Amino acid sequence: MLFDTHSHLNLPAFDKDRYEVANKCLRDNIWMINVGIDYESSRKAVEIARRYKEGVFAAVGLHPENLGKEVFRGDRYKALAESPKVVAIGEIGLDFWQLPKEKEKQERQKDMQKRVLEKEILLAQELGLPIIFHCRKAHNELIEILKNIKGKKLCGVIHCFTGNITQAKEYLSMGFYLGFDGIIFKMDLDNVLQKVPMEKMLVETDCPYLTPPQEGKRRNRPEFVKYVVRHIAEAKQMSLNEVAAITAQNAKTLFCLEK
Ligand SMILES: [Zn+2]
Repeated sequence: MLFDTHSHLNLPAFDKDRYEVANKCLRDNIWMINVGIDYESSRKAVEIARRYKEGVFAAVGLHPENLGKEVFRGDRYKALAESPKVVAIGEIGLDFWQLPKEKEKQERQKDMQKRVLEKEILLAQELGLPIIFHCRKAHNELIEILKNIKGKKLCGVIHCFTGNITQAKEYLSMGFYLGFDGIIFKMDLDNVLQKVPMEKMLVETDCPYLTPPQEGKRRNRPEFVKYVVRHIAEAKQMSLNEVAAITAQNAKTLFCLEK
């Protein structure tokens, strides 16, 4: 079995065929979590998951890139998260990739991202759900925030991990998982892949984005997670089946999907 822990069949790129794509995955024994990036896509993720008895789950959250378009309202996300299909809060986090050039505006952006993130973390704590973190060009800032969170211990995954081994170790020491996707074909992360323990790794696609080069310019989809699994297997000198089985088990453990 394969488990794509980060897909977006909830986005418009799949408007025409999301259920066909999901059905085919289930026939091939591929499970997935569709992850929200704003209220509408979160609602859609829940709607999709509700159609399936098992194998298709949802995460709800407001992505830092969408803060300009939506004001975060915890009550709305909390209502969505009441569905038993919601297995995580996410994707939430920090994205310092395309900040305004002007220093003052930049600081204001960063502060706003941090404030909303803290609210979303509180919601996850309140609901007792794991968190799917998005973090781009902000690992040290995110680590700092996570170290200072009070109250209930957090669990979750740093999705699409692109940090260095020192940052990876910081996350691991706090108990987080690291998620790997097609970005490993664009950046050389083999050093990280080799050193992160297998039991802390998740695999994902982030489809429709980040198509592995083996599939050219096509739209990415959950089944292409197999290329990520294969690359990790090579980096760690393990068998493909072992990596598939362990990462699927890790996902079931983190997102509490054991019966
Ligand atoms: Zn994503």
